[in-house]
Amino acid sequence: MRVAVFSTRPYDRDALSRANAAQQRHDFVFLEPRLDLSTAALAAGADAVCAFVNDHLDAAVLAALQAAGVGLVVLRCAGFNHVDLAAAARLSIEVGRVPEYSPHAVAEYTMALALTLNRKIHRAYARTREGNFELDGLLGFDLHGRTVGVVGTGKIGECFARIAAGFGCRLLAFDPRPNAAVQALGARYVTLAELLAGSDIVSLHCPLTPQTHHLIDAAALAGLKPGAMLINTSRGAVVDTPALIEALKAGTLGALGLDVYEEEGDLFFRDLSDEVIHDDTFARLLTLPNVVVTGHQAFFTEDALAAIAAVTLANLDAFARDGRPVHKVSVERIV
Ligand code: NAD
Repeated sequence: MRVAVFSTRPYDRDALSRANAAQQRHDFVFLEPRLDLSTAALAAGADAVCAFVNDHLDAAVLAALQAAGVGLVVLRCAGFNHVDLAAAARLSIEVGRVPEYSPHAVAEYTMALALTLNRKIHRAYARTREGNFELDGLLGFDLHGRTVGVVGTGKIGECFARIAAGFGCRLLAFDPRPNAAVQALGARYVTLAELLAGSDIVSLHCPLTPQTHHLIDAAALAGLKPGAMLINTSRGAVVDTPALIEALKAGTLGALGLDVYEEEGDLFFRDLSDEVIHDDTFARLLTLPNVVVTGHQAFFTEDALAAIAAVTLANLDAFARDGRPVHKVSVERIV
């Protein structure tokens, strides 16, 4: 099949080409632009489109893809909040995704953010490069014995809970569907308010849905244990970013690690180091000493890229054979 791959970066090209190398079943057309209404025409002549997290797949774009002859969208990510699934169903476009590639990649990265913020590695790194070996301002706390709250205990949340348990942390969890493996680690399922009030570190691992949009807003932040740390490696819009800044200014939020940002589509996966950032909310976050922001890299391990490419190929093969991807995302999944 001919597959138009949007938002291609060199590592996407390498991983997909390697997965396709043995049998050359598919003809990949690698495109750097992000998919939106202005770029959808680039898919002309393709049977399928391969898209990433910040590609736009709303009703208008899907209609344009259908008009271009596209019958399948394969997402090279787990989240599918950026796809209008009802429109895809109406237009008879199948949607596939990679439901699990490496929960370890994201969970390990989440702990890396928590450790960085707690032990101020980001500040120590900058200081020692300047010949400053002063410790004042770098004080952290032992993770052992502290309470970690995990919001969303699916594949990644479970992995992160396991890592935190390995550090000797106590675990609180919030999820409408409790996970027995997480309970077996000693985690106690509580309400979100109880989790926020009782945790030294809160980590978000739920998907972005209408129910989780701005789940962590000003009211939720007001209920945090004073000075607690918040880590978000799920999706940007699960938190209300201006409310985070207010909580950081007030000191109710003690530290913040973000790998995702609500408006990241205009920022991430590009080198903007020569440009002025126009998003003042984002720019403000970057000025705070107790905030670490990274550009949606939690997934970014060689293992995860290989797994994403392999599952994407499997989705394409299944569609070519049976008319539906192996990991089909359907409108019924939106709950
Ligand atoms: P998953 O489906 O295995 O688990 C999600 C869990 O969240 C489920 O247990 C579900 O019951 C729970 N949940 C749903 N609604 C909830 C709510 N209102 N409150 C609390 N919990 C709720 O998904 P996963 O593989 O663990 O991935 C989780 C999310 O991580 C993805 O949806 C994606 O947005 C994000 N992600 C980020 C990166 C990255 O690079 N930063 C990479 C992969 C995934």
